[in-house]
Formats: sequence, C-alpha cells, structure tokens
Amino acid sequence: MEEQEIIEDEPQFSPPVPAGATNAGAAGSGPTDGLALADEEITINPDSPAFAFAAPPPEAGNPYLAVLHRGAKGLKVVATDDKSAIRYCMNHIAIELLTDKDGKPAAREGSKDNPKGFDQATTLQLGGSNRTADILRAGLRLPLPAKQTHRSTAEALFDALARDPKTRINIQWRARCGNCSVKGGVQYQVQGERNFPQLPDGSRSHIWTCPNCKGEVSANWQPVKYMPA
Ligand SMILES: [Zn+2]
Repeated sequence: MEEQEIIEDEPQFSPPVPAGATNAGAAGSGPTDGLALADEEITINPDSPAFAFAAPPPEAGNPYLAVLHRGAKGLKVVATDDKSAIRYCMNHIAIELLTDKDGKPAAREGSKDNPKGFDQATTLQLGGSNRTADILRAGLRLPLPAKQTHRSTAEALFDALARDPKTRINIQWRARCGNCSVKGGVQYQVQGERNFPQLPDGSRSHIWTCPNCKGEVSANWQPVKYMPA
C-alpha cells in the first residue's frame, strides 16, 4: 500500500522523443540549434490517436539487455506516511533498452520502437531483502556496503548508476488509470501484456479502457527482474 503512494509520483508514460530532439537545447550551444529542429518535416499518422504513447516492447523479448542511468528524481529519502517513523531511500532509475524483442540492437532510445522505462528502487525491506540490494547484487554483480543502512545501500546504487551500468531485465506492461487515482479512492490498473486487449492479429493493444471511468489508458513498461548482463 505504502509503496503504491510513491509510484503515483511517477509519470505514467514516457512520451516518445521526436527524432533528432534528444538533448535539444540542453547542450548549451545556442538557441538556434533547437530552432533548427523545428524545421524538420514531421509525419502525422491519421490513424494514430494524438494522446496514445508508444507501445512497450513485447514481454516475449525478455530478457532485454539494458543500460541504467540516474533518473531525473535522483536519490531521495521517503517517508511511508505522516504517522509512521519509517524512512527509506529511493533511487529513480531511467532505463534504456539496448536490444529489441529478437535480441538484436534496439532502435534509438526514446523512439517509437524503443520507449524509455523507469524504476523506483527503494530500500524498503521485503522478504529479507530490498529492491536496491537486489539490483546491486543480482543485476550489477556489485558488493553491498559493509554496513548496510538505507542510506549506504541506496548510495551504493546511486554511485553505480553514475557509471551507466549494463544489466539484463525482464519487463512487464503496466497501465494505471490516472483519472481514478484519487488518494483513498479505488485505482484501476492492469499489468502483464497478456491482460491487455487482444488485437485481430493476436498481439496485444497497449491501450486499455478503464472499467470505472471508461478513460483510455496507455501502458508503459517496468522492469520486474534484474539479471547480470
Ligand atoms: Zn479510471
């Protein structure tokens, strides 16, 4: 329950970055660099709904080779709720897939065929371990700190992320209705590609209709398991 409250902070979808727009304006080489990109021809697919995000890669491609980066939210301390004294740490991780569903080199990160993924690795203990320690040990084959605290374990991962380490991951499709995600209310979500609507060709649609508000929700993907690269 508590962990769901954190995940709510996560942007549900990562919109695909238009071709050539990576780091546009961020390199600091002048405003005209960004403006030049605005002259690039864009193609609008009339059949594509304006607010649908790119489909996640198929789960059938698991495991994917991936590279991890520090996410925009970095490392932070989280309180489970106001009344509780429990504090733990969370690393925001941005994940780039390096392979496609066939194990071949993936399309450019952030493109329609390779939407970015995110993870929020906490040090919240679950079954004698925590996600941060699992990523360090199982995913990155790195030692845990000699003295394991929420802070030291999270900082070990934060340091490792600065080196953009490679790992293998199993991914899962997830969609959560933002319209219904009122605090204390019922939140509708679906996870697992096979639970999404089947298309005539047998594949699954990443667009899902919330049974509560009938709103359209687009799936993103999240890592569910980390393994050595
Ligand atoms: Zn809804």
